[in-house]
Amino acid sequence: MITLADFFMGRREQYPLAMSPSIEREALRTVEIVNKLLAQAMSYGVDLTHKHPQTGTLVASGWRPPTLNAATPNAAPNSKHMTGQALDVYDPDGELDDWLMTGEGQAALTALGLWLEHPSATKSWSHLQTVPPKSGRRVFYP
Ligand SMILES: [Zn+2]
Repeated sequence: MITLADFFMGRREQYPLAMSPSIEREALRTVEIVNKLLAQAMSYGVDLTHKHPQTGTLVASGWRPPTLNAATPNAAPNSKHMTGQALDVYDPDGELDDWLMTGEGQAALTALGLWLEHPSATKSWSHLQTVPPKSGRRVFYP
């Protein structure tokens, strides 16, 4: 569903000096885990056929080199997008967010080891990360 190329958004080639083996490894792990989550969401009827108008894929935002993150409005200065540990899934109607807030969605996040930024802070996407936020909450505010 989401490929590593979708996650990198052509930025590996654009920002080669910002790449590292650790980012590459974490990115692969993030994509694999998020795809497992999306497969479960689909089995509950969540529509994942949307394509983000800018990226042309289901990824609204993947890897962000530090310079790009710094220039991204509202991005956290310590964003996990920089380390390859966060991925924004395009979710224009909030369908995925809605499912993630159900008991089944919460159980899936816990089982897979994913943390979700609160849907009220992510209007047309779902921010998922493979490391806990400072608060340790499964659904957190940035
Ligand atoms: Zn994000």
